[in-house]
Amino acid sequence: MTHQKVLVIGAGGQLGSELTQGLWRLYGKQNVVATDVKPAEGVLATGEFEILDVLNSDQLQNLVSKNKFTQIYHLAAVLSATGEKNPKLAWRLNMEGLINVMDIAVDQKVSRVYWPSSIAAFGPTTPKIKTPQDTIMDPTTVYGISKLAGERWCEWYFKNKGLDVRSLRYPGLIGYKTKPGGGTTDYAVDIFFKALTEKKFTCFLKPDTYLPMMYMDDAVKATLQLMEAPAANVKVRSSYNVTGMSFCPAEIVKEIQKFIPEFEISYAPDFRQQIADSWPKSINDAPARIDWGWEPAFDLDDMTADILKNLPSLLDVPAPAMLH
Ligand code: NAD
Repeated sequence: MTHQKVLVIGAGGQLGSELTQGLWRLYGKQNVVATDVKPAEGVLATGEFEILDVLNSDQLQNLVSKNKFTQIYHLAAVLSATGEKNPKLAWRLNMEGLINVMDIAVDQKVSRVYWPSSIAAFGPTTPKIKTPQDTIMDPTTVYGISKLAGERWCEWYFKNKGLDVRSLRYPGLIGYKTKPGGGTTDYAVDIFFKALTEKKFTCFLKPDTYLPMMYMDDAVKATLQLMEAPAANVKVRSSYNVTGMSFCPAEIVKEIQKFIPEFEISYAPDFRQQIADSWPKSINDAPARIDWGWEPAFDLDDMTADILKNLPSLLDVPAPAMLH
């Protein structure tokens, strides 16, 4: 693509902090402006950063018109578990934020917009195994309702306003560089921190709860690949199914125990069990593979080894003996 100037909204979160670094690598650090309601931390503070509340449309409008952005990545949201505790806030941020971004993108002729949906847009009567791209969607959480509505809005802006907005339905995202932001799949991140520091973990989901997941490197790869694809290849204008792997808590425990044999698990399911039970167990992402060449690089084995190799130095704890 020609010269790009990129705005990232909600850049301080679990996905944003890694996606921003992916954008630095692709377009140059000087061409990416990361923003969030909270101040930049860690590596994010080494690039261009501004405080921005996506609900403040005047502030957003000024920033976009000043910088002549060609792309906006809008990641700010209230996630599934937090959203159930504060449904009105979740609805307001997740809906008004998206509409603000799309209106300003149309007004300022921004070439491309990215906004993530989620497997939370599916619900209890959705087929749970290899959930297809087009199927029943009856989300039960406010977060899921906002994601399904957001998907419909994206398609509407594409068809009626000519906005090139693109989206992925992420499964649970697993990374170790930032802590997760209040989702139902957070256990699969926390488990690595606790395995390395305390050698034990209490899981808030039952041992056999299968969910679709994706390693953060793959999430960044999928996002950038979709945004770089020629417009004609992007045939789904609501949101694409994508997945990396599917596993349940008992399986990730077994995998971690290969490296940390003394690691102990206990289970104390809470309200998040019900949310997880309403979501797919695995995802069919054939349209993403066919339309723009999606292919994940990490399965459960690769991901576990990569995290247990790299996370110890960040936590200042010894790496598992077999990884020395
Ligand atoms: P997160 O909670 O870690 O990060 C969200 C960021 O948005 C935070 O840094 C927060 O400070 C910021 N924010 C909150 N209110 C804001 C506002 N008014 N204006 C600007 N910024 C604001 O979330 P995440 O896990 O990084 O998720 C990013 C996106 O990906 C979200 O849209 C989420 O729904 C989607 N998603 C995430 C997952 C996952 O497993 N993490 C799965 C599916 C979809």
